[in-house]
Amino acid sequence: MMSFAFDNSFARELPSFYVKWAPDRVPGPRLRYLNHALAEELRLDIGRQDAATLADMLSGNRLPEGAEPIAQAYAGHQFGRFSPQLGDGRALLVGELIDCHDKRRDIAFKGSGPTPFARNGDGKAALGPMLREVLISEALHALGIPTTRALAVVDTGEAVRREKLLPGANLTRVAASHIRVGTFEYYAARGDHARVRRLADYTIARHDPGLIGKKGRYLDFLGAVIDRQAALVAQWMGVGFIHGVMNTDNMSIPGETIDYGPCAFMEAYDPKTVFSSIDQHGRYAYQNQPGIAQWNLARLAESLLPLLADDNEDESVALATEAIASFDGRYQRYWLDVMRTKLGFHDQVPDGGDEDRALIAEWLALLQRNSVDFTLAWRHLADAAEGNPLPIRDLFADHLALDAWLANWQVRCATEDGCTNSDESGITASTRASRMRRSNPWLIPRNHCVEDALSAASDDNDFGPFEQLLNALKNPYEAHAEFVRFSKPAPASFTESYCTFCGT
Ligand code: AMP
Ligand code: MG
Repeated sequence: MMSFAFDNSFARELPSFYVKWAPDRVPGPRLRYLNHALAEELRLDIGRQDAATLADMLSGNRLPEGAEPIAQAYAGHQFGRFSPQLGDGRALLVGELIDCHDKRRDIAFKGSGPTPFARNGDGKAALGPMLREVLISEALHALGIPTTRALAVVDTGEAVRREKLLPGANLTRVAASHIRVGTFEYYAARGDHARVRRLADYTIARHDPGLIGKKGRYLDFLGAVIDRQAALVAQWMGVGFIHGVMNTDNMSIPGETIDYGPCAFMEAYDPKTVFSSIDQHGRYAYQNQPGIAQWNLARLAESLLPLLADDNEDESVALATEAIASFDGRYQRYWLDVMRTKLGFHDQVPDGGDEDRALIAEWLALLQRNSVDFTLAWRHLADAAEGNPLPIRDLFADHLALDAWLANWQVRCATEDGCTNSDESGITASTRASRMRRSNPWLIPRNHCVEDALSAASDDNDFGPFEQLLNALKNPYEAHAEFVRFSKPAPASFTESYCTFCGT
């Protein structure tokens, strides 16, 4: 039997924060996806295993030695409303191990059967949504954005009932940890300050070990979580990623993108874009993501209040308020950094960034007015940097406005060329263009391509399109002739009616 070098710190150090629970047995497990590169990173000697053994193990039918499956408790604000008890209803933390970078990673199942937290759910997952998580999480990873990863998907051989019967699946997810804002809320809502403190101590040791034993560490921990979220959301905004269900139970303390349900990438730039079928008021629309992140972090701050200033509630509230207010400045800095890099600027931010901010605002307004594809616009800006404005002009109806903006942008580029900090006298157009291509992806998982790949796999048992798309998404910053079909926006009619669901 294959061995995983499990070291299950959560199960060991936080008894009473979870329920021990075994995955359901499944009738006919078949391995449909295995992430070999990630397996290697996790030091799993998967190469020597036959497919049947792997399918057995990754379906939960035969757990590797050392696994201690548990269902973690958590609460959460869903669409602004508090649910005191959510928890792993169809997921299990199987164990933790230390990867080849000496980082502790959670290995978890999703779709492994109902747990005591399942409420009325069946505890199962359908194949399509699990393959969707693979495509989009691996795409984000390749884009350089922190995310949970997908190690494997097993078709369970069991049908699950949704609107219709669908093939069932179990996804193996890898995360820095599964500790969420909602994990803290669970204990805080019960007034269990001792457990909030134990959870915070454990989490600090795991994710912010530099704070261990420090005075004021809980406030610094809050600051660290705020900072990671600000950085994460800024990166989402840079690639047009819309998470879709930013409930507090779907916000990870280590700052990874987690929970791939109704997420999708924006096509034509419109800050109000929202795809999720249940997000009727656009709470989680593209433009609202930073504000929602801050709102969620305020829920974390509330949960941590008893730890912030010993027995002094007013002081705790003041400290928490100040920390939450710091999100704005942090986010703005990260966002400006992301956007400036996309524009091809690498110099020190001039005049507090006001001029660059104005240039970005004008650019985004131009994209919106012309309904331009967000990904292609940035990508073709790199061509313009190199003296070829034709591809970008093709995207815009209003050439006059585009040309005026491009002229301003080029003036700004020239100021950077004239005063580089390096010994060189300036950067060349092709250097700028190739730098821009490293931060403006050629490929994102386009919604129509994702849907085509999933329906081929789920409805027709044809995994070819899924594998091709996944393969293409591994190098999103390089243009490849063979993947051109994945790089084109969907027809507007597709995007207008495109609707996503909470991946069940
Ligand atoms: P999510 O929308 O995936 O963030 O899930 C929210 C909550 O619903 C979590 O507590 C999940 O464990 C639970 N949940 C979602 N789908 C199911 C299901 N099919 N069976 C049991 N629990 C579920
Ligand atoms: Mg969730």
